[in-house]
Amino acid sequence: MTHLLHRSINTQLPVAVGGKGAYVMDQSGKAYLDASGGAAVSCLGHGHPDVLSALHAQLDKLAYAHTGFFTTDVAEELADRLIADAPAGLDHVYLVSGGSEAVEAALKMARQYFVEVGKPQRRHVIARRQSYHGNTLGALAAGGNEWRRSQFSPLLIETHHIAPCFAYREQREDETLEDYGQRAAEELETKILELGPDDVMAFVAEPVVGATAGAVPPAPGYFKKIREICDRYGVLLILDEVMCGMGRTGTLHACEQDGISPDLLTIAKGLGGGYQPIGATLMSTGIFEAFKTGSGFFQHGHTYMGHPMAAAAGLAVQNIIRRDDLLQNVFAMGELLAERLTERFGQNPHVGDIRGRGLFRGIELVQNRETKTPFDPALKLHARIKREAMSQGLMVYPMGGTIDGRVGDHVLIAPPFIISPEEVEIICDRLGAAVETSLASLTE
Ligand code: PLP
Repeated sequence: MTHLLHRSINTQLPVAVGGKGAYVMDQSGKAYLDASGGAAVSCLGHGHPDVLSALHAQLDKLAYAHTGFFTTDVAEELADRLIADAPAGLDHVYLVSGGSEAVEAALKMARQYFVEVGKPQRRHVIARRQSYHGNTLGALAAGGNEWRRSQFSPLLIETHHIAPCFAYREQREDETLEDYGQRAAEELETKILELGPDDVMAFVAEPVVGATAGAVPPAPGYFKKIREICDRYGVLLILDEVMCGMGRTGTLHACEQDGISPDLLTIAKGLGGGYQPIGATLMSTGIFEAFKTGSGFFQHGHTYMGHPMAAAAGLAVQNIIRRDDLLQNVFAMGELLAERLTERFGQNPHVGDIRGRGLFRGIELVQNRETKTPFDPALKLHARIKREAMSQGLMVYPMGGTIDGRVGDHVLIAPPFIISPEEVEIICDRLGAAVETSLASLTE
């Protein structure tokens, strides 16, 4: 009998007792190749000696100091590090404990900004269907994932959703990818005009969609058009890079590849690589100035924000990524992974799409490749794949499709940035076996 909720609900969970490099070990001594970094978290793998030393050193100095009383060198240094490499125009950092807190803070920053500048009527948030921005009430309301929202509806905050930019499912045969990107972005303009341009506060989107759809990159030009539309109507652009950011796609920020900067940027997961819980919201000069000349503060806060241990983890992880030139490996191993996934699954009649950027890749499974019809969600193909992969000693991140058929079951692959070519081969072999066994089990 356990009193731990997640174990009580899933009694089959193995007990993790150790981790080294790309592997996690359970109590029976079985090693699992961590090809999803948990949920795209463990970017340096497990037990990295330099992160451990940085954490020990910080623990010897100071474990905790409340931000209402003190600042710390380590939090200052992390903020400087993040701003030195931030997308243009972002110049202040708000440190929190995870992704949902980062998104929640971004939404409140947007709201307070418009209050400070005398436009309190700007309150509408627009996001995209099939999106996930966190589980706290504000972040959940922004998200467009009906499976996560449904039990809590009506949500306290009303949000509005447009279609995602999802070429595999939404591009028409008579249009180019670029034309499709423009059409998808124009939906934002239509929604802003429908709601009233003076009443819209922010548009929230994940540059490369992670958990809800399986590493879906935007069409070329989509985000440039989104940026233009936001600027035209004075709407703040919040980019949620909690999952796809901090090097995961081969550049430090995913939006670099789309040539744009947001007004607010949320990061987490790979920021601290799982060594401590940490997230951050990066804000533009304009928003900072409005707070400074207005009420003089941001009306928000958490007990553990700017936690010195979390900041030490973030700083160590980010310094190691630069020192060891790991983004280079993300790019090279990402290309290899894409190539091997295509070899392994390209001819599989039930793999509809293989997609992603860097070490952020996804495959989508369909019952019929021609019509792109997903499997019946009741078959829970994703859960079968997860079970099979775990029994093969592989951690990947499969998720179910949507009931409305807009996404099929998919598997997200997000291994650590230190992954080797041999480990890429192992991922593809084990995933191949897990997918084949799971598909075969559907007809048993
Ligand atoms: N935003 C995105 C894009 C995410 O993928 C997630 C988590 O998966 C979150 C926000 C929420 O982050 P957390 O689980 O750290 O609260």
